Amino acid sequence: MKTPRSQNTSNSVEFEDFPNKDRHKLDLLENAIDSLNEALAKYKQARAGDVKTYKFCVLHLSHFLELVLKHYVTLAHPLLIYKNPFAKKFDGESLTIGVQEAINFLLNEGRDLPDDFLSDLYWLKKLRNRIEHHKFDMDIPEVEATIGRLIQAFVEFDQIHANLGLDDSVNIKHFDLFVKLADNYELNLKKAKADVASLSHKNYGDLDFQVGECPECEHETMVSDPTSATGFKCLFCGFEDPPDDLEVRCGICGLPWPQFQMDYCDWYDQNDCIYVCPRCRHDPEYVKDD
Ligand SMILES: [Zn+2]
Ligand SMILES: [Zn+2]
Repeated sequence: MKTPRSQNTSNSVEFEDFPNKDRHKLDLLENAIDSLNEALAKYKQARAGDVKTYKFCVLHLSHFLELVLKHYVTLAHPLLIYKNPFAKKFDGESLTIGVQEAINFLLNEGRDLPDDFLSDLYWLKKLRNRIEHHKFDMDIPEVEATIGRLIQAFVEFDQIHANLGLDDSVNIKHFDLFVKLADNYELNLKKAKADVASLSHKNYGDLDFQVGECPECEHETMVSDPTSATGFKCLFCGFEDPPDDLEVRCGICGLPWPQFQMDYCDWYDQNDCIYVCPRCRHDPEYVKDD
C-alpha cells in the first residue's frame, strides 16, 4: 500500500532539516536593501561635505553587492546558498558561499557580468579591505566615479536578469539619488513620468499647467515650467521648446494661443524673448487691421 505523502516520514524529516530555506532567501534580499539604503545615506552625507563618510558608503555598498549577488544565486535554487548543498543537515553552522563563488556561479550559468563591472567589484573589495585594516587613503573623485559605475552596472544587470525592481524598495528619501547614480534610461524615464504625475496632481485645475509630448525625446514628459525661458521643460531630457499643440500665453496681452501660432522673439529689444500672439503683432493672416 502506498503511504500518503503527509505520513511519509522521510519526506517530513527532509523539510525539518531545512526549515528556513525561504526565510534565508528573504533575509538576503532584505539585508541587501538595508545596506543599499545605508550606502546611499552615507553617500549623501559625504557629498554634503563630510567626505570621511565615503568610508561607510563603500562598506555598505560592498555588503549590498555581495548579498544581492548571492541572492541571484538562490534564485536558481535556495540551497545553492550553501557551500555544500548536498549535506545531510543544514543549521546555523553550515557554510555559505562567498561573493567569488556567487560570481563564478552566475558566470557558469551563462549570465553576462561585464568585465568592467567585475573589475570595479574587485576594486571595491580591495578598498573595503584597506578600510577594514585602517590602511586606506581615498581618491575621492575615483571613489565617487566607481560607486556610480557600480550602481549603473548593477541596475543594468538586474534589468536583464532578475528585475528585482530595487528602485521601488529603496527608501523614498534616497530614491532620487539612486536614480541619479544609476543614470539608467528606464529608471530616468520612470522617475520623469512619476514627476509629471505628481506635478499634474499638484496643479490640478490650473489651466496654465499643461503636459505634452516632448518634440525631442517623444515622451509625454513636457510640462509647463515657469523657470524655463520658453515656459516649458521636458522632465526627462531637459528640452525646452514646447510642441506645437501646447498653448502658451502671449507676453503682451497674456492670452493663451497654441504655440505654433506664436512668434517667440525679443519684442522689446531687451535681450529677453517672449511669445507674441498674432493679434498683438497684428498678423494680417489672423487679424484684420482697419
Ligand atoms: Zn524630452
Ligand atoms: Zn497678445
